[in-house]
Amino acid sequence: MKKSLTLVQLYPRDMNIYGDTGNVLVVQKRAEWHGYDVNVIDYNPEDAFPSEVDIVIGGGGQDSGQIKIQQDLQALAPTLKTLANNGTPMLMVCGLYQLFGKFFKTAGGEIIPGINIMDHETHAGPTRLIGNIVTKSQQFGDIIGYENHSGQTFLSKGLAALGQVIKGAGNNGQDASEGAQYNNVIGTYLHGSLLPKNPQIADFLIEQAAINKYGEFTPSVIDDRFATAARKVAISRSR
Ligand code: GLN
Repeated sequence: MKKSLTLVQLYPRDMNIYGDTGNVLVVQKRAEWHGYDVNVIDYNPEDAFPSEVDIVIGGGGQDSGQIKIQQDLQALAPTLKTLANNGTPMLMVCGLYQLFGKFFKTAGGEIIPGINIMDHETHAGPTRLIGNIVTKSQQFGDIIGYENHSGQTFLSKGLAALGQVIKGAGNNGQDASEGAQYNNVIGTYLHGSLLPKNPQIADFLIEQAAINKYGEFTPSVIDDRFATAARKVAISRSR
């Protein structure tokens, strides 16, 4: 029987901006190429959360979207924390990256509480940080994307950044950090969507999920010519 993975997309109705849903499509397609069927489950507020989950992906949204989902997210926090602590791979972009930390404080001073899976906090800044961005990570090489956020995120000392900014603003426009990684949970400001131009991160999520579920992962060789070409163009357009 073909191996299968279950992917939960968190709050696609309210947290899915700048094409973030493309991340789900990339994981689904690449996992198929690696020999796995992927069962994608959309999770929106008040849905039943599936009992077996191999990958969790969440996107960005406006402050209003974050406010809409916050209560449900708090209720889901213990489940997500257990999954994160057990090594379930997750990718959280922008708005949900912020809410995987301590809180997001809006420009109006409202505190939207996070779920403390990662130790960081976010404060709305005076200007939006917008543009094409390139970062460098030891694990994933160059990571390329597009950022658009008012939030400035500051990581606690113990929390590793996902990458170092080469061009762009990143977490806060000040300390050259971008994103964060705890266990197999990746948080980032990079939209784009992220994964079409950074297939190495998609493969990381798939590999971790496969190892957790089946104890091993044997990758297929995938023709990444289009991804490589897209990366080149995006790097040439970074500011
Ligand atoms: N509302 C948040 C901010 O502007 C998140 C934005 C986003 O997810 N694109 O900082």
